[in-house]
Amino acid sequence: MKNYIKHDPWCIIEEGFHPEYNEVTESLMSLGNGRMGQRGSFEETYSGKSLQGNYIAGVWYPDKTKVGWWKNGYPNYFAKVINAINWNGLSIQIDGVELDLATCEILSFWRTLNMKDGTLKRVCTVKMENGHELSIESVRFCSMSHDEAAVLSYSITPLNFAGTAKITAFLDGDVSNRDSNHGEKFWEEVNKELVGTEAYLTLKTKESPWENVPRFTITSGMRVKLFQAEKVQEVKSLPVRGEKYVGRTFEVPLTTNIKTTVQKYVCNLSSENHAPETQIEVAKKYLNDIAHLGFEVLLGDHKKAWEEKWNHNDIQINGDIAAQQGIRFNIFHLEQTYTGKDARLNIGPKGFTGEKYGGVTYWDTEAYCIPFYLATAPEEVSKNLLVYRHNHLQKAIENAELLGFSKGAALYPMVTMNGEECHNEWEITFEEIHRNGAIAYAIHDYINYTGDKSYLKDYGLDVLIGISRFWAQRVNWSEDKKKYVMLGVTGPNEYENNVNNNWYTNYMAKWTLKYTLEALAYVKENGGVKAELNFDEAAETEKWKDIIEKMYFPYDEGRQVFLQQDGFLDKELIAASDIEEHRPINQKWSWDRILRSCFIKQADVLQGMYFHEDDFSKEELERNFDFYEPMTVHESSLSPCVHTILACKLGRVDKADEMYVRTARLDLDDYNNDTEDGLHITSMAGTWMAVVKGFGGMRVKNGELSFNPVLPSSWDSYSFRVGFQGTLKEVTVNKDGYEVKDL
Ligand code: BGC
Repeated sequence: MKNYIKHDPWCIIEEGFHPEYNEVTESLMSLGNGRMGQRGSFEETYSGKSLQGNYIAGVWYPDKTKVGWWKNGYPNYFAKVINAINWNGLSIQIDGVELDLATCEILSFWRTLNMKDGTLKRVCTVKMENGHELSIESVRFCSMSHDEAAVLSYSITPLNFAGTAKITAFLDGDVSNRDSNHGEKFWEEVNKELVGTEAYLTLKTKESPWENVPRFTITSGMRVKLFQAEKVQEVKSLPVRGEKYVGRTFEVPLTTNIKTTVQKYVCNLSSENHAPETQIEVAKKYLNDIAHLGFEVLLGDHKKAWEEKWNHNDIQINGDIAAQQGIRFNIFHLEQTYTGKDARLNIGPKGFTGEKYGGVTYWDTEAYCIPFYLATAPEEVSKNLLVYRHNHLQKAIENAELLGFSKGAALYPMVTMNGEECHNEWEITFEEIHRNGAIAYAIHDYINYTGDKSYLKDYGLDVLIGISRFWAQRVNWSEDKKKYVMLGVTGPNEYENNVNNNWYTNYMAKWTLKYTLEALAYVKENGGVKAELNFDEAAETEKWKDIIEKMYFPYDEGRQVFLQQDGFLDKELIAASDIEEHRPINQKWSWDRILRSCFIKQADVLQGMYFHEDDFSKEELERNFDFYEPMTVHESSLSPCVHTILACKLGRVDKADEMYVRTARLDLDDYNNDTEDGLHITSMAGTWMAVVKGFGGMRVKNGELSFNPVLPSSWDSYSFRVGFQGTLKEVTVNKDGYEVKDL
């Protein structure tokens, strides 16, 4: 755990440079606007520890899977988010010496991510090895109002010398990924152009050995403006060309205490939105427009866009500044990652903050993220997340065929970018099939929240039928039990694999079949089922009804709890608190030891009880919570939030608070020592749920919105805003009770 980030309600502040944590800070201070994003690295050369990362949504390259023993059904490759053109780069030589903070003495230093404004700012003074002291000020943002634009303003002021600066503003596409493609460079140059104060670079992803892998073309363009003492300077710049690199170099005299500022106006385009052959022309026009608007206007528009977001989604916590900063940090990054304008995009577990995890879409989106966007953004935003899966239905059917399923059965990938599986551990790829259940559940969640039943007819039913067909083929009849069973699965608890009858998966399967029948009845009355589904209603639904009636659920009569899987009681049942010194077990134990243990990575039976809370009494929930929670090690960031919500339901506010603290500042305090890889974006939605559905007790049932708030003892009061069916509500909770206001 680290605590070098200053507590502040709106800002993430690093005061005094911490080079040893630089990659952590870069992750924390990442910027994005749904279309692009980047880590919070320095603009100028930095030879210390740093992971440069610039990402363009939807752009990927196949990473060859590294598997020793190939299994039929594995994908050949997986789509991997790749590093794109570094747009904010500057090289600054002062009197012939490169400015590099790793070789300077740092006299003062602030790096601040302002979450209210969506800007990253740095103010520092440094002493170079030659004794030159100067101050540096930089501000940059990925525009929320013009989502293909990014802007940087970077200033240096000599404090004890006069001299000459050679400043090169560049676009560098000669990049690779650290954690994949084995050091391979995946971009090839298509074009570059340098005119006036502008430079353009067009790259295309290399041809790959696999068929049907799309190739992406991206263009970044920049225009540079130079100011001295706040006045524009018409200084001639020299073009610089390199491999996948373009830049413009300015030579300027430096005068003591006079500020020199470089403004970089940038646009980043991709072939997802612009035909490759038009990109440079589009970029020229785009740059012209944004450069005319100028830094202040663009910043103003960007701030306004953020203000609108905060008006809809802010959570205020009074009396606990660390909790306040934590929740805003989570909301901020969710907003930067996904804006819901494009149904081809989704929410990666690391968003635009790092490279880890192939693909971008996990069940995290449906199980955790959808509730956040439902309550904080227009309906369209969560709808697009559902449509994403609808558009991948055919690929999910092909994915199931690869595993031997047929007749339109759909198995959605565990991890994906464009509908193809991006994961290759058999116990997850083939067995963690509960993801299908979450996709069905999200359709229900969306309709329940928005009331938009037309979704079923246009998109939802196809997906539900595909998933139900899968479940109907995946179960088998057990003569012994006289029940349908589901063998060889991995539940949400990835700390046991290849188990039989994971209660959660069986429950989600049965629930999906029931919900599909309901959806079918609705669609039949409202327009009819699409012919292309080849749906044999009589035969298919007869089997579904039989499964619904005769599905097997492991249960312990003695304890009266649902069993996570058939063999769970054969394990030695010990509490996680008895093995404190062995935690986290995923770093200290062999995988073999973990698999045989009773320890649970994340909510499993309890995940099911959370989704389907009305199916269970409070006593049932209590018994299961008391049985499973003590064995849960919460080594997935997705775990504590579900436990917070359930603990609140049980009136155990202190337990809920204990769980909540783990989720809210997970990255800010680097609890798991992995923030340098990027942030846990999807679990941030879980943090939001912990406040709104947990402490706030928000529920939507039969079209009615309700709250049942509790106040954690460390907070004086809190308030949150949610949008619901055309209204915006603010809920305020304090020691005297709560109030719901229509805004
Ligand atoms: C969790 C999964 C989750 C994935 C991505 C894993 O550690 O066990 O449930 O989907 O991370 O967040």
